Amino acid sequence: MKFHVETWGCQMNVLDSQRMTGLLEARGFERTDDPFESDILLLNTCDVREKAESKLYSELGRFSAWKREKRGRVIGVAGCVAQHAGTQILERVPFVDFVVGTGNVERVPEAVENALAGSRESYLELDRDSPVYQFRSIARGSDFQAFVTVIEGCDQFCTFCVVPFTRGRERSRRAAEIEAECRDLAARGFSEVTLLGQTVNAYACPEEGLSLAGLLERLCSIEGLRRIRYLTSHPSFVTTEFVEVLARQPRIGRFFHLPAQSGSNRVLSRMKRRYTREAYLEIAADVRRRAPDVVLSSDFIVGFPGETDADFRDTLHFVEEVEFGTIFAFLYSPRPGTAAARWGRDAEVPRALASERLALLLDAQRRVQARGNRALEGAVVDVLVEGESKFGHTLSGRTSCNRVVHFRPIPDKPARPGEYVAVRIDRGLENSLAGSPA
Ligand code: SAM
Ligand code: SF4
Repeated sequence: MKFHVETWGCQMNVLDSQRMTGLLEARGFERTDDPFESDILLLNTCDVREKAESKLYSELGRFSAWKREKRGRVIGVAGCVAQHAGTQILERVPFVDFVVGTGNVERVPEAVENALAGSRESYLELDRDSPVYQFRSIARGSDFQAFVTVIEGCDQFCTFCVVPFTRGRERSRRAAEIEAECRDLAARGFSEVTLLGQTVNAYACPEEGLSLAGLLERLCSIEGLRRIRYLTSHPSFVTTEFVEVLARQPRIGRFFHLPAQSGSNRVLSRMKRRYTREAYLEIAADVRRRAPDVVLSSDFIVGFPGETDADFRDTLHFVEEVEFGTIFAFLYSPRPGTAAARWGRDAEVPRALASERLALLLDAQRRVQARGNRALEGAVVDVLVEGESKFGHTLSGRTSCNRVVHFRPIPDKPARPGEYVAVRIDRGLENSLAGSPA
């Protein structure tokens, strides 16, 4: 029997889909890339922004005829919307066979088998202790890059964010288990791992009390791992020890994703982010001082309820001051269940104004980015080749600081995905770099 998994959202959802795929393959099901060719369809959903639920229902609508066409076809909803909306999905859409929340990825094969036997169920318990999973059966999306969960859930309850409701309380995995997974990956030829967590730097080993800094140092001793990345950090948990380890260990990715969300103290406090603009700037200065090759990146929310022109100007100046390597900026989207969604319409920023601010912010960042990329012209960077580039006969890959590099390989020395190539940068563009092998 064939199955297909559709994935929306962040790296964690991508990893969860890889886990589901591996577990189903281990039970003898066969993967297909075409949803309409499958017998079992899984929708792994994201709930962070925009009309996540309506997107789910419109996708389900797209598959309703497929489902009716043949008896025995199974459709299941997984991920954050499943966790949040739960049994409502089963009530509203009679042809959905099961919902599996984010804490029950391991139970997907059982859910599928129960559905094939004719039952309709939900699997929604959350918040088990230190998460354990069968890492050897994960169907990795690459032969050389892998995601590794180190901490699940989030205890922060930022007033805009749905994650604490969809992913539950914070649970760190045991360091010994993470190390075993990374050793296993390195032995199988993976050279880059990305440690994942919503607040990855809140990591605390439940057995040894090890912090993210300690864990990274330990993983740096694994032979074969050339790049160890980590996503996503929260400014409140950045310690001096962490910045020191970053400075000392070149194998730790030179890319520090540290979402600020806003450059205005008033907005940060309404978001319940627990740091100030000044505290963030101090971290940025400390990173620049001790680890000058590390590139900072950030997320911003524009049009958060109550954001004034002055607040937005603070954000704009903040972006110009920090000079991020890249930013992800989003229009605020009210999420059911969160504190900000209950504040009423008075504080709402009109959509048109919020969109205008978003365009201004992205424009400012484009200028910063183009300057930063031009400054790299002439430099030689280490590129992990990921595949063919969209632009003609060139390859593309990433630097340790996560910049995209396109280059034309030397004809008698082709490079394959997974190889590291030293590339001299000829041109710094807005969103990428172009060069040739050094
Ligand atoms: N844990 C990370 C942190 O603390 O920054 C972020 C997790 S969230 C999945 C990824 C990004 O989505 C956030 O950094 C934020 O910018 C954005 N986001 C979250 N909730 C949002 C909302 N309600 N509206 C718009 N953007 C949102
Ligand atoms: Fe959401 Fe805030 Fe937790 Fe990040 S830290 S996942 S933004 S609640």
